[in-house]
Amino acid sequence: MQRFALPKVPAWQVKHSRAALEAVATDPAMFNRGYRMLAINPGDLVFPSWVKCRQRGLVLAELHRRRLPAYIGVDLSSPSRPGNAIAVVGLEPGSLHRYLLEIVFGNWTSPETASVLAEVCSRHNVQWIQVENNAYQGALIDWVRKGKDEFPYWMKIEPYTTGQLSKIDRDIGLPALEVEFHNGAWLLPWSEWDGHPPVCRCDWCRLDAEFRMYPKGASFDGIMAVFFARDAANKWAPRTTAGRRMGRLNQR
Ligand SMILES: [Zn+2]
Repeated sequence: MQRFALPKVPAWQVKHSRAALEAVATDPAMFNRGYRMLAINPGDLVFPSWVKCRQRGLVLAELHRRRLPAYIGVDLSSPSRPGNAIAVVGLEPGSLHRYLLEIVFGNWTSPETASVLAEVCSRHNVQWIQVENNAYQGALIDWVRKGKDEFPYWMKIEPYTTGQLSKIDRDIGLPALEVEFHNGAWLLPWSEWDGHPPVCRCDWCRLDAEFRMYPKGASFDGIMAVFFARDAANKWAPRTTAGRRMGRLNQR
């Protein structure tokens, strides 16, 4: 009886060499997602409580009409993270609940960022604007302060001053945000996500994906913009008794 030899071609593409497969297997998240069809291990995620903050029945247009004191965070592009994001957080006086009022993503130059920021500001009751201080787009604040005619909020803009955004800020500051999500301090307007398909690429869905996936997602510019906005509110919002209590909780 004739024996058939297997053809001398690899059973899979050469890019999946033993070495490549072993390299992937050393990153459990990548291995689980890529080879076992398992979702990311929930324990790996920093913001498991984000989705709990979505409020059914909370409509953005109604929220805007309340003219809550608004704090704005701006994340700037850098060579390692191309792309900008602007987030607006409204603070409810008294309760200090935080409402997400707006999120915008773009890939702008400093002058473009300044003009988008002016547009965003025109829609809100702006208290403070905090801008990431990075060398790559360091001119943004100067640009805004010089262009007083086009940028009526020039006196409300401040750099994020504790040096370059360090890994410590990310490792300690971001989990503090999760504690607030967990405790129900944030209210997210469900109307902005309701009915969007899972593959939707709108700015709201992009921010939602960033929070749900962090630190396993493709980007986190929006998270940083929210972080700078929240930090501005923590530092500069007028202090009530409730505010002082909340401030102590937020110390990092
Ligand atoms: Zn969407």
